[in-house]
This record gives sequence, C-alpha cells and structure tokens, in this order.
Amino acid sequence: MNLIFNKKLAQGYSSKSQIARVLTENWVKENSYCPCCGEIPLNEFENNRPVADFYCKKCNEEFELKSKSGKFSNTINDGAYSTMIERINSNQNPNFFFLTYSKILAVENFLIIPKQFFTTEIIVKRNPLSVTARRAGWVGCNIDISNVAEAGKVFLVKDSKLIDKKIVETSFNKTLFLREKSSESKGWILDLMTCVDLIEKETFSLEDVYKFEDKLRLKYPNNNFIKDKIRQQLQVLRDKGIIEFVSRGNYKKMKYGNI
Ligand SMILES: [Zn+2]
Repeated sequence: MNLIFNKKLAQGYSSKSQIARVLTENWVKENSYCPCCGEIPLNEFENNRPVADFYCKKCNEEFELKSKSGKFSNTINDGAYSTMIERINSNQNPNFFFLTYSKILAVENFLIIPKQFFTTEIIVKRNPLSVTARRAGWVGCNIDISNVAEAGKVFLVKDSKLIDKKIVETSFNKTLFLREKSSESKGWILDLMTCVDLIEKETFSLEDVYKFEDKLRLKYPNNNFIKDKIRQQLQVLRDKGIIEFVSRGNYKKMKYGNI
C-alpha cells in the first residue's frame, strides 16, 4: 500500500473539493483491499450513485468514502440529515471509509466503520442553511464517531502506519453478527461496548461495568433488570471475542487495529 496520492490526476481540475475527490477515490481504488474478505482491488461504482462509492465483487460489501484534509477528528461532514436517518432505519447504509490526509497529499488515517455501527445516535443534525444560501433551509448532518464503539473503528492505516491485513479482516468480521440482531438487542450490545471502552483499564471487573447501571437505566427506564442485562451482554461480547474472560467476574479488553 502506497500512502502517497497520484498528484498527476489533479491536472485539469481547479476546484479543491473536486481535486480531493479525484485523488482520494483513486487512492482507494489503487491501494485498498476489502476489509471483510481481503479481495484486491475494490471496484468503483459509476459516478453519482446516491449511496456507495465502492464495492467488493467477491463478498458484495459496499463502501462509501469520506475524506478530510488535516487532523483526524471525531466529526465528519455528511449529506442531508433526513436521508441519512432514513438510510439507517431501513438498513440501506453502506460501510463507511474515512480517510484523512496531510498537506503533502499522503494518507495519514484510513479506517472503516462497519455499517452495523451506524445508529441514529451518531448522526448529529446541523443548523439549516441560512435564507441567503443557495439551498436555503437545507439541513445537513455530521457523523460523530466519538459515539462509535472502538470495535467499530477498524483502522487500515493509523498515524501513517499500515495495520496488518489479518488484524483488519479479523476485526471487521468479529462484529458482523450484529447485523443479524434486532435493533433492540443490537442497541444493548453497542451500549455495553461503549461502557467497556470508557473503563480506563485493560482488565476490568463486573463491578466496573455495574457503575454504568444508572446511565443505562436512563436509556432503558422500563427495564428493571439492568444488572442481568449487563451480564448477558458481557457474555455475548466474550463469546464473540470482543472481550476476553480472565477469571470469574473479570474480563480483559481485546485489541483492535489500534496497536
Ligand atoms: Zn470482500
């Protein structure tokens, strides 16, 4: 994987956003592989397809690319708020590639957020465009990836370093089971993943997770068995290799692409 963009392709374009689009799309096409099955290369959809940019012809996963120059941040600008919410609710969103690049036009971070991690909670409504704007009243959205569990941020390149392809594929495949879950049980598992992420220790106990009981009760006010739910979800995370069982009531976080 070569991290430098093919700058020659920028010739003939004057708009910065067009140049960025051409260079980043070409980079993904020439350098990326499918994070699900490892297939090389990814295929591009024809231009202006409303949803995805790339697909894998072996496993049929679809990918949308968002890129940004400069530092990695948690907020990604996206299109219309209502369209995004609709896509999430109807399970029609693709996986999401996020790429950041430096001033010298080289990739610094390239990660995939698998589509099962997209919930309406990570979509933030922007203010409507002002009356003087060309599209006055239009409401866009931001994707706030600080609300995405660590298991849902699978880096292929992190801080200009390549992550082992096997780690990427394993991390991507580990959470595919979430796609088969009802939205309620997926919600619980994602919430528990986020709680575990917030524990600032590699090894943690059941008691550490119980500390989130009040927070979870606010979200699930009708559930009187929060502790039971916590234990159940930890069991799921353990069975799926997302956390490791150490000893009775003690667990360990598993590392992802962020090694
Ligand atoms: Zn594939």
